[in-house]
Amino acid sequence: MVGVMDGKAGLVTGAGSGIGRATAVALAKAGAKVMVSDVSEEAGQETVQMIKNLGSEAAFFKCDVSNEEQVIGLVNKTVETFGKLDFAHNNAGINKGLKPIGEMDSKDWDITLQVNLYGTFYCIKHEVNAMLKTGGGAIVNTASGAGIEGSPNMAPYTASKHAIAGLTKSVALEYGQKGITINSIAPGATITPAIESWSKTSPEQYEGVLASLPAGRMSTAEDQANAVVFLCSDMAKSISGVTLAVDGGYTAGK
Ligand code: NAD
Repeated sequence: MVGVMDGKAGLVTGAGSGIGRATAVALAKAGAKVMVSDVSEEAGQETVQMIKNLGSEAAFFKCDVSNEEQVIGLVNKTVETFGKLDFAHNNAGINKGLKPIGEMDSKDWDITLQVNLYGTFYCIKHEVNAMLKTGGGAIVNTASGAGIEGSPNMAPYTASKHAIAGLTKSVALEYGQKGITINSIAPGATITPAIESWSKTSPEQYEGVLASLPAGRMSTAEDQANAVVFLCSDMAKSISGVTLAVDGGYTAGK
């Protein structure tokens, strides 16, 4: 997709690893200037270096998306650095409390909702206001297959990701006439550090998912990144409010 993001600038959260890092790199390869953001400065700076090694432009801003003040800082810094916000990939997410709900520590519920749902809400709220100043833009959230179907032992994660799909639809209706598109991707099992860690804590569930994949393989972070670049580009101008499964067909029969 070389050139499809030429002249555009925006931000990616959770861009220090996995899907966020692959997306930040893919957006840069497609021509965009990218504000790489993560709660980990070291990981985020590594992504910036990967982009600079390609000869593309990137900067880093440390931001915990569960903190609204930090999200405001991220959006402001992106506009200050690149002059505008054309796209945003709200990707940062965590998966805590891997237990049946009756055994779960409520703190795991709180932190998962705070990062995944409130974090996405804070990002969207401040991104739309920045985008309105230049006539619009494209927002892509990272939901999950767990935003389409239920997943045992992942209640807070599943609730947060279903909520992102609903939030995406509402915002699409609110801002469509103002030039803003908003969509989500729903990754299926994707090879990243997060899923490698999940494979160790929940090996039976992991093996079950692996055995049931219609494509016969897990997605890669680059598969997810390709979908995000498309949804951020002008090629997807007529797509909004959609949660796009990027899962090799896994949720097709759900
Ligand atoms: P990952 O753990 O490899 O990367 C997540 C990144 O987010 C890390 O760099 C981490 O430092 C950062 N992060 C964590 N909490 C943060 C916070 N509060 N503020 C800002 N940054 C924060 O994970 P991944 O697999 O690349 O997952 C990325 C997104 O994709 C998440 O929203 C996840 O729920 C979703 N997802 C992943 C899969 C999968 O199979 N990997 C499947 C479905 C959905």
